[in-house]
Amino acid sequence: MKEIANNAKKEIYIKCKKCADEIFSDTRKKMTYCKCKTIAVDGCEDYIRVIGNEGDYEAIKK
Ligand SMILES: [Zn+2]
Repeated sequence: MKEIANNAKKEIYIKCKKCADEIFSDTRKKMTYCKCKTIAVDGCEDYIRVIGNEGDYEAIKK
């Protein structure tokens, strides 16, 4: 588990490189898995946490 952002002001999406699923970083503290369940995102206004291998996802700002 790694905290990748504090005070995320922009809309950040976490993209799974395996299934190309994009998860909006503000999951309201609900653990949200991508389609293939390689990664999971747990986030809110204050933080974003991603569960999974670092090489399997990337953060995208929209
Ligand atoms: Zn996936």
